[in-house]
Amino acid sequence: MTKEQEVKDYMMQHLPDYYDYLRIPGISAQDTGIDETVQWLTDKFTALGAVEVKQWHELGGNPVLYAEFAGKSDQTLLFYNHYDVQPPEPLDEWESEPFEPTAKNGKLYARGVADDKGELISRLILVQYFAEHGGLPLNLKFIVEGQEEVGSPTIQDYVHAHQEELTAEACIWEGGGKDEDEKFKITAGLKGILSFDMEVETAETDLHSSLASYADNAAWRLVQALNSLKDANGKILVDGYYDDIKPLEPAAQKALEEMEFNEAEVKKQFGLKTPLVTDQPLQELTNGTTMTINGINAGYTGPGVKTVIPRQAQAKFDCRLVPDQRPTKIYELIRQHLDAHGFEDIKLKYQVGEDPSRTSLEDEFVKLNIAIAQEVYGTDGISIVPNSAGTGPGAQFVEELDLPLVSVGIGYSGNGPHGPNEHIRDQDFRDGSWFMYRLLEEYGQK
Ligand SMILES: [Zn+2]
Repeated sequence: MTKEQEVKDYMMQHLPDYYDYLRIPGISAQDTGIDETVQWLTDKFTALGAVEVKQWHELGGNPVLYAEFAGKSDQTLLFYNHYDVQPPEPLDEWESEPFEPTAKNGKLYARGVADDKGELISRLILVQYFAEHGGLPLNLKFIVEGQEEVGSPTIQDYVHAHQEELTAEACIWEGGGKDEDEKFKITAGLKGILSFDMEVETAETDLHSSLASYADNAAWRLVQALNSLKDANGKILVDGYYDDIKPLEPAAQKALEEMEFNEAEVKKQFGLKTPLVTDQPLQELTNGTTMTINGINAGYTGPGVKTVIPRQAQAKFDCRLVPDQRPTKIYELIRQHLDAHGFEDIKLKYQVGEDPSRTSLEDEFVKLNIAIAQEVYGTDGISIVPNSAGTGPGAQFVEELDLPLVSVGIGYSGNGPHGPNEHIRDQDFRDGSWFMYRLLEEYGQK
């Protein structure tokens, strides 16, 4: 049997060892199962022979787990993962119990199996494999947080406080895998995010709608404010919003040109009913910023008639940010925009902010990832992504710990994270784990 076959078989053989981990509903948004998850992982890290296992909780929030494994070289790689998962709702759309791992047709279903438990499981089974086959080729450190699904409010503080322990040469982010065209992605960065609420109040009580003759309406006022933020072409009208966006380096621009965007497939997948808002979707996904209304709430929307003037209206927003935009500055610019347009009465509430980050594609660690991916998936089987369109608290790792950051893993575009029937495919678990095996082996020799 080849080494590759042996490792892949070993992965599948040991995956069920982690079913108990998948059974724990560690839901940060609902504050359930956190202690149990932390204990389970602490025991697992210890059982796997970690030289150091710690639960950091001195800065508040859900505990951050830290573990360290000693390897044969001086080289150290840091893994970032999270143990919390999204709530399983809507429950009636699941075809199996969300917290009962269910293997079916070459897939494994469970809440969190793709985001992000399966990725950590793959990495931990590899630790065990190496331990049983001559030892790890390099030192590994794991930082596993428990509030990623609620915007990672504390991880930046923990990373800052534990810089020394987190010293490494490179960082592998929470996960990755295959894109819509079944190409294995090597992603070298993350967008940032700002989320905030907007609220307007026009009276202390809802009014009879006959009084609309003289009284203002919170819903209209909110709509007018919203309308001032973007033009009909989708351009964000907030002064300075685009100013800090850094052009892509030539290597990233080149990678972008080699990426494919399957418009027909995307339209089919989501059942899009309106045209795309851009003719450069890849450029926008990579180095474009957004401003998204996540929800609007005002007045009566139930059946029948209710002639009322709503007294208040709210909207929820997120903005995806790219280097070097900063959430606090963008928030400030939006405030200034509202004030300058006569919307001083509209209140903003800052929810979450994360800085964007991007590692150069010319970095040696990125290049090694690309080389191993080409070996495992073939030259045509990979896609180099300068940064994902998604967000994570990566900036701290890149800037403060000064690490190159790469996202690679065992997922695929149909995993359905956050939705019902979240799953991973056995094939991706095998291949992605073999990729990681090869990466650890080669990076240990650098
Ligand atoms: Zn995640």
